[in-house]
Order: sequence, then structure tokens, then C-alpha cells
Amino acid sequence: MAFASSGDLAAKEETFVELAAGVYALTAEGDPNVGAVEGPDFVVCFEARATPAAARRWLARLRERTEKPVRYLVLSHYHAVRTLGAAAFDAAEIVAHTETRRLIAERGRQDWESELGRMPRLFEDPASIPGLTWPTVTFSDRMVIPLGGDRELVLAHCGRGHTAGDIVAWLPHERIMFAGDLVEAQAALYTGDAFHTEWASSTLDRVQAFGAEALVGGRGAVATGEDTVFAAITQTRHFLDELRRTVGAAHAERGTLKDAFTAAHDALAPRFGGWPIFEHCLPFNVQRYWDELEGVDWPRIWTAERDQQVWAALTDG
Ligand SMILES: [Zn+2]
Repeated sequence: MAFASSGDLAAKEETFVELAAGVYALTAEGDPNVGAVEGPDFVVCFEARATPAAARRWLARLRERTEKPVRYLVLSHYHAVRTLGAAAFDAAEIVAHTETRRLIAERGRQDWESELGRMPRLFEDPASIPGLTWPTVTFSDRMVIPLGGDRELVLAHCGRGHTAGDIVAWLPHERIMFAGDLVEAQAALYTGDAFHTEWASSTLDRVQAFGAEALVGGRGAVATGEDTVFAAITQTRHFLDELRRTVGAAHAERGTLKDAFTAAHDALAPRFGGWPIFEHCLPFNVQRYWDELEGVDWPRIWTAERDQQVWAALTDG
């Protein structure tokens, strides 16, 4: 099997949707989603894509609807495929959680190399990346961006989950949420930098408590309607629970990491195996949860070299 997503080279079809007046999302069959919200004389963009070249294609779609300048670029978390395209937005402020800034400083360079190796197709014209993306505004709990009238955009940290510093963007007036990688709709989860137990319990509880009527997850189609939003959150929780159950059992029985991988694959593949990035992510997911069980609280840094070692140890390719 080709390493991670390095064999996934077919272009995905992009779908532009206006979820409410001035609220936009672009989804792409399991590639990372992006969004935007219009204020009175500015735009807030959510997520930056992997490169400025890739971001400019999204901005060209957005510019068919609005010419307002980007005042805020909001980053849901530190991962390269969400942050390294930031230069294209010319944003006045780049907003992220305090832990996201810390993670970029600590491991941004290694993560860039790791993600480029895992998902080369997403890095359109990698030479267009000027360097790491540095947030200019950070917060640890909650931040509100007024949008005019009674409209506002609430940025909130719901606890540790996909990473230590995930934030969601919530429009209370429209009841629409951009959830980043905390929720995936019919796409597999990446948990290689995650805090599984917290994510599956209190963090997803808080995400659910917003009562969104539409939700844009990190990957996959927009979930529209309360039932579909509930299904996306439940699917995310189920994935985490099954991973924890199977890897936890192998660890408790003093099995090997490979035993844990096989058990997790057997349990998850029937339901999730056909979804985007399932095979790519699972070795890294199992390794990270195994580390958590071993008492490693702060995720170890993925490097291009460590990626290859874990892949070789857990897959046959
Ligand atoms: Zn991510």
C-alpha cells in the first residue's frame, strides 16, 4: 500500500455552498473544508488550506460573491494543511488558540514536512508557501467577532480534542457551526495528535450543546439539519470509542502495537474503511492512543522519518 495518502492523486470535486446569507463553505469530497462569513464591511475566513496557491482557488470562488477584505483569518488548529496557505488571504489578523501558537512554535516545521509527505496532492505549488503561519491574535477560552446588528461570530475552545488547541466558529443567529477537525461528516478521523478520552467525552459534549442546525466539519459534506448534525457528532464519537476500546484491550492484555492496530482495523474498517483517509490515518491514530495509554500526555512530534517508521511497523507496505 502506498504510504499514507501519497497514492491519492485524483483531483476532488469542490462544492461551494451558501448556508445562509453571507455564510459560505467549500467542501471537496473529503479534502479539508474551508468557510467564510461576511460582516458589514469585512469577511472572516475559516481555515487557510495547505498553500497560498490552493487558497487562491478558494478565494476566487468567494470573490464571485463578495469583494470585502479579509479582516480575520481564523485557524481551527495548527495542522499544515489548514494553515500554510494563510499568505493568500492578506488578512489583517490571524486568529487561533494559544495552544495552536505554541504548537506551531514547537513543531510547525516538522509538521509541515510530515504533512507534505503524507498528502502531497494538497500541497499545490508548495514553493508558494512563504514560511510558517503565525497567529497575531490568540485566546484560550472564547472570542467574539461582532458582525453588525445582532449578528456575531463566536470562537470557542471546547477542550482538547483533535489537537490541544482546537476552536470552533459558531454563528448563534444562524445556528451554523464550523467545527474544524473536531467533527468529521462521513470522513475518517485523524487522531495522531489527539487527546482521545477528552475529545470523546467532554469536548464533543460541548460541541453538541451548541445545538447547531448546520455543521461544517473538517472534511466531508456539510451536515444540514439537527438530525444530520447529531449523526456527524455521533459518528465521530463512535470512531473514537471503537479506537479506544480495541487499542485499550490490546494494551491491557500486554499485546503489541501491531496487535492493537489489527484489532482497531478489524473493528473500524467495516463501517469507516471506505471513507476518505481511513487507511492513511489509522497507523498514526493507533500509535498516538497507545502513547496516551503509556502515559504520554503531550503528543510526540511527527517527523517525516517517524511517519515512515510507524507506517512500516504497522502496515504491510
Ligand atoms: Zn487536523
